[in-house]
Amino acid sequence: MAHFPPEDSLQAFIRPEIAMIPPSATLEINELSMKLENEGKTIYRFGFGQSPFPVPASVVEELRKHAHRKEYLPVQGLGELRREAAAYLTRKTGAPWQASRVLVGPGSKELMFLLQLASRATLLLPAPSWVSYAPQAAVAGGRVEWISTRREHRWQVQPEELEKAAQAAGSGTKVLVLNTPSNPTGHAYERGNLCELAEVCRKNDLWVLSDEIYGDLHHEGNHVSIAAFYPEGTFVTTGLSKWAGAGGWRLGIMGLPAGAHSIAHSLAALASETFSCVASPVQWAAVQAFRQEGDVPVFLDHSRCFLKALGQWVATSLRQAGIETEDPAGAFYLFPDFEAHRHALGAKKIETSAALCEHLLEETGVALLPGSAFGMPGTSLTARLAYVNFDGEAVLERLARNGGACDEAVLRELAPDVIKGIETLCGWSRAAARQVIGDGPADTISVESGN
Ligand code: PLP
Repeated sequence: MAHFPPEDSLQAFIRPEIAMIPPSATLEINELSMKLENEGKTIYRFGFGQSPFPVPASVVEELRKHAHRKEYLPVQGLGELRREAAAYLTRKTGAPWQASRVLVGPGSKELMFLLQLASRATLLLPAPSWVSYAPQAAVAGGRVEWISTRREHRWQVQPEELEKAAQAAGSGTKVLVLNTPSNPTGHAYERGNLCELAEVCRKNDLWVLSDEIYGDLHHEGNHVSIAAFYPEGTFVTTGLSKWAGAGGWRLGIMGLPAGAHSIAHSLAALASETFSCVASPVQWAAVQAFRQEGDVPVFLDHSRCFLKALGQWVATSLRQAGIETEDPAGAFYLFPDFEAHRHALGAKKIETSAALCEHLLEETGVALLPGSAFGMPGTSLTARLAYVNFDGEAVLERLARNGGACDEAVLRELAPDVIKGIETLCGWSRAAARQVIGDGPADTISVESGN
């Protein structure tokens, strides 16, 4: 009897453009980390970017109160939530939004995907960028035009580069993706940069997908949105996953430009044929979250204050070990560049970001993600470092008691794994450099404590 399924039908089952998508770098690093951990090695986890903070208590309470809600809600989202989300977007972006222009979905990631699916646009994508935009374009049948950026510009898009990319992308619908504050760099665009980019967008008829999921984690509370300068062409996405620590609740929102009625209609149609609506209790709880009242302002202040202090400590330590990185402005990432160590690393046959991360993990237990996973050329010696490996609940409790002080002693006490991991990474990097100049051991890397 013929065996089912035959091998060729298995291969034909998956569309070629889906089969082409590589497994995510995060998964690969996690698997290697787990293997090493099972072998008894200590792993310093800087790979996974999940908020360490709990969901604010007032928001959890709203979820509890609405746990009995079981009805399907309108596809675009609960009316109360869309009104509150519109008010939130108005406060955060400085542009006016109405409830009719807000779509609620199971995470902002899904809403970005629906936009790509509906438009098949060419994405103008800065390198480096968050890992999911380009695979989403591949699945949706869109194209990507990469925009190169430089460390001297904090890895941010310059107007001339945007102009070039817009020309190179040819005709058709084009969407610039901007993510501020940024995953993977931790940098945030300032008003002047966004004003200039808005001019280029206007001149070239570009749409903008402004991913502002980390907006409320701007370390100074100074988030700026390009929607303030280009409201007619900007889609803004955000949600509860980062500032409210509720990634697993799966709630995101998209604000659509005022004239985009037909796009709103098509996105709602796609939503109705796929996820129908976000879980009712979560939508009710999100009404409270987007109001940002009660315990939320202090929660946000303390989260930002700790992330800022820790991010600056990590960046300073890396610079002292010759690893180039600027202080972050928001979120919980850094994008260190090991370029200054290229010669030393070359002696260990490390010539790509993937090799850099593999060696680091195997030799020291420090888990970073390679820059190539974020659209950087394979040969760049960049990596993403997420400094979230600490107990967010303990941090908030402590800062509530000490009035929000975050000095080095507090960091050492509350984020010991981050501190130890960074000292290990710096020690490795110094030892690699010493080996090349000849005063280190010839065939081993010693791990010392940095400062
Ligand atoms: N955008 C960026 C830059 C992210 O880092 C993430 C999550 O890691 C998302 C969007 C997805 O957020 P959500 O949980 O709202 O889908």
